[in-house]
Amino acid sequence: MVLWALLACAAIGLTACGAGRAGDDGHGAVPAARDEAVSCPVRLDRTGAAFAQRTPFRTDQGCGVADPVEVTRARFLPLSRPAVMDCALAETLAAFETRILIPAARFHLGTGIDRIEHVGTYACRGRSGDRARLSEHAFGRAIDIAGFRLQDGRRITVARHWRDPGPAGRFIRDVATGACGVFSVVLGPGSDRFHQDHLHLDIGPDRYCRP
Ligand SMILES: [Zn+2]
Repeated sequence: MVLWALLACAAIGLTACGAGRAGDDGHGAVPAARDEAVSCPVRLDRTGAAFAQRTPFRTDQGCGVADPVEVTRARFLPLSRPAVMDCALAETLAAFETRILIPAARFHLGTGIDRIEHVGTYACRGRSGDRARLSEHAFGRAIDIAGFRLQDGRRITVARHWRDPGPAGRFIRDVATGACGVFSVVLGPGSDRFHQDHLHLDIGPDRYCRP
């Protein structure tokens, strides 16, 4: 667990600041201990997320979402527009918000986040680097995040601030690195030419941390 997150957790006493505890190797899609006795939507509801359940679907191309929810607020933070995703991704997003995002904003920027600006979740398509294989987006198990609007009105984006040497750049780079402890795959400007303006976060079977 990176230092700022430890400090932030200590400073604000976030009970959900659980990264680094037993069972978390820092690279798995490991939300906080989950109650397997209840369904994902029930657990998601307990996080405070705002969402509506949708009907599972599958397309002729092999795309589809097994446990779809349309999310308008990840936990405390609204999404820039409603997003259809698998419930498991929504649950991971809620954990990411609490464990990584909010503490990083407070530590680096001294403010809160007002909104997560995403540019896509479910989409029936192939991978950007390998069109023959379906993307995790095709199963609603990936989200692309372009940036964040802060409570003081500033906007921090991957496109503008990734290489910024100041607090905005440190914030967004730390968020990307921290995301590797929550999601299975994290791709960003350091990965390839397809990810210069957003972070791709997914909970698919691969393990890959290259923001
Ligand atoms: Zn993506």
